[in-house]
Amino acid sequence: MTKASPRQTSHLPFGFHFAIPLRFSRMRRAIYPGSFDPVTNGHLDVIERARKLFDEVVVAVAHNDEKQPLFSLEQRLDLLQETAGRIENVRIAEFSGLLVEFARAQNAGAVIRGLRAVSDFEFEFQMALMNRSLNAAVETIFLMPKEEYTYLSSRIVKEIARLGGNVSTFVPDCVAKALSGKFSQ
Ligand code: ADP
Repeated sequence: MTKASPRQTSHLPFGFHFAIPLRFSRMRRAIYPGSFDPVTNGHLDVIERARKLFDEVVVAVAHNDEKQPLFSLEQRLDLLQETAGRIENVRIAEFSGLLVEFARAQNAGAVIRGLRAVSDFEFEFQMALMNRSLNAAVETIFLMPKEEYTYLSSRIVKEIARLGGNVSTFVPDCVAKALSGKFSQ
């Protein structure tokens, strides 16, 4: 005998009722974690791809004090808010501690990571397997950006800006301004 799936009953006006199986009503939420120091067009490309696959994408900015970021947590959050915060089904948040714990607290079933080149692979593979051993319910999904962004990283963008180069094709305007503000001080 097959077991009936749990159901939620919706009560609409006019006395009309219908049932939605719970497995269909659950929101599919993914976390896209990173330092975002600062957000680049590569990150935005990944966010755009991820939001088509999930009901909600939570872009989670890691505190990452040990990495000594160029931008403070507030600045990184503000730049993301300005560039991706108004995109439908994208939410910007901060997190510290274990990513799998944050995913659990957010009721998210997936973690998104960007894969640019083979050089990303080893570290990402290790992280994904470690996260799986900590919480097997959270799946890591890798997304590839547009080819032109595969060589792009926050680190390279900061280096170019520090040396006075033009970064306007790699980052949104507000980020380019913030970078020139940092290095003209
Ligand atoms: P982290 O410190 O976690 O590596 P980053 O902000 O550098 O933080 O990167 C966050 C995620 O975004 C990582 O999965 C990284 O591989 C991905 N990413 C960064 N830049 C790009 C890019 N140009 N294209 C695709 N993915 C990217």
